[in-house]
Amino acid sequence: MHNEKIALVTGATRGIGLETVRQLASHGVHTLLAGRDRGRAVDAALALQAQGLPVEAIALDVTDADGIAAAAREVERRHGRLDILVNNAGIFRDDFDKTPSGQTLEAWRETFDTNLFGVIATTQAFLPLLRKSAAGRIVNLSSALASLALHNDPASDIYDFKVPAYDASKTAVNAWTVHLAHELRDTPIKVNAVDPGSVKTDMNQHGELDIATGARGSVLMALLDEAGPTGSYTHQGEVLPW
Ligand code: NAP
Repeated sequence: MHNEKIALVTGATRGIGLETVRQLASHGVHTLLAGRDRGRAVDAALALQAQGLPVEAIALDVTDADGIAAAAREVERRHGRLDILVNNAGIFRDDFDKTPSGQTLEAWRETFDTNLFGVIATTQAFLPLLRKSAAGRIVNLSSALASLALHNDPASDIYDFKVPAYDASKTAVNAWTVHLAHELRDTPIKVNAVDPGSVKTDMNQHGELDIATGARGSVLMALLDEAGPTGSYTHQGEVLPW
């Protein structure tokens, strides 16, 4: 059993998730690098271990109920609790050549399976372990694109950027965050949604921020102290409009 904090980051084989693992581990958090491909998760974890960081790999596909349950049992067996869950895994399936009304239902379903139902299923499975933490933290990767207020504001940067399956999946993540935060309001567990910003990753080749900057919001919310918010929606600590 470790005395240090224990974190798990989903979708951590690349992009913001991998960097979130690196930053959390650099803060001394024992971090489980979760990937849907066990081999790639092990390779990524070994590379960080080689830098002296406290990282271990775990297999977790957020769309695989049996796999999620097995991962939760593995964390229970190895550590007995979880202090930080970062729901980072996400996909983008909208077709830029199609209008909002022209996106396929398949794209909608795939997006919601990973971005929303994957977050809920993973959280449900790990909540018993988070309840064993003295100060549980749940961080849900949202997006500025989740904001209905910004989408309706002609002056906002995202006004003309409408990718509805992705956007709505993240709006639903925000709703889930608020509901779960309310359920857990009398516990030490804090639940927050984070917009990493427009980050240069495989998902967003036109991103403006580097990955290290993009991961900072997740790390900030993962390491919140007792005075920190719950049920919030922020970018680098700044509150965003719903
Ligand atoms: P990315 O580079 O495309 O990485 C996505 C990660 O999610 C990959 O590690 C991928 O695993 C994993 N993943 C996908 N489906 C999964 C599943 N079913 N189970 C487990 N893992 C799965 O994306 P990113 O830019 O780092 O995005 C990370 C998060 O930030 C996402 O939730 C995204 O929506 C959000 N976000 C990103 C931006 C941005 O500008 N980049 C902006 C706002 C929000 P594989 O390696 O196995 O494919």
